[in-house]
Amino acid sequence: MSNQVKYCTECGKEISSKAVVCLRFYLGRNKYGIISIIFFWTFIPFIISCLHGVKLLQMSDEDFNLLYC
Ligand SMILES: [Zn+2]
Repeated sequence: MSNQVKYCTECGKEISSKAVVCLRFYLGRNKYGIISIIFFWTFIPFIISCLHGVKLLQMSDEDFNLLYC
């Protein structure tokens, strides 16, 4: 069974030929995603996520695509 690759149509990253786009854990912020999982039992990630969510909602679609796509 061969595992052929192709390139993500969104970011150009190499992905499996069966995938449509690459999966990006926590919008590519892997360290923050892992820290959030480790400290999920505190309210710190919740508070930071709320602040980040507000920031994302205020961002234009163009700015979002430039940063995260
Ligand atoms: Zn991608």
